[in-house]
Amino acid sequence: MSLEDTRETRAAMIETARAMEAKGLNQGTSGNVSVRVAGAMLITPSGIPYDAMRPETIARMPLEGGPAEGPCKPSSEWHLHRALYVAREGAEAVIHAHPAHATALAMARTPIPACHYMVAAFGGDDVPLADYATFGSAALSDAVVAAMAGRTACLMANHGATVIADGLDRALWRLEELETLARGYILSMQAGGPHILGADEIEETLVKFDDYGLRALP
Ligand code: 13P
Ligand code: ZN
Repeated sequence: MSLEDTRETRAAMIETARAMEAKGLNQGTSGNVSVRVAGAMLITPSGIPYDAMRPETIARMPLEGGPAEGPCKPSSEWHLHRALYVAREGAEAVIHAHPAHATALAMARTPIPACHYMVAAFGGDDVPLADYATFGSAALSDAVVAAMAGRTACLMANHGATVIADGLDRALWRLEELETLARGYILSMQAGGPHILGADEIEETLVKFDDYGLRALP
């Protein structure tokens, strides 16, 4: 069920954005956070440090199109957030960020294969890579929606990463898991190269995740 547009919801978005920074998943004004509310999304404003954000500076945009409401410009990545809510019924929160290791792989244009069973936490046997397009463009939004089909995360070529989830807590958890997986993958390449798990092994993990409360593919 979608969140309501309340002061608490807006404060929780800011808390999530600040937590990204505290966890080393993002820095400066890069990245953005949104949630679905009835017929609209709430999204962090563009270019404003998370410490300076207040509930009233969060922007609100109708999902059907139309201008943002609020005193600040919405995140430059509003196309991407809005397109994910339209394309993915179960997506209740979206986070885009530039975590160092996930972004390093995105710079090398290397998707993450099934090098660890936790890859299944993103819906399948890889974390795909979205094609490059200019930040904030509708083309980038199209590339991310396409790459993320059947998945809850993707890397974005020469840019960063995006995750979707059924709520803010789960989205932050998923972003942190993605960064951990990316770091492990990079280290394993230095350690001789990872062994890649087979499709059957990932399928078994996905079945176990259902039991573990982890699948939740929006
Ligand atoms: P905003 O500050 O406009 O949200 O942009 C940050 C970013 O990561 C762009 O890709
Ligand atoms: Zn970005």
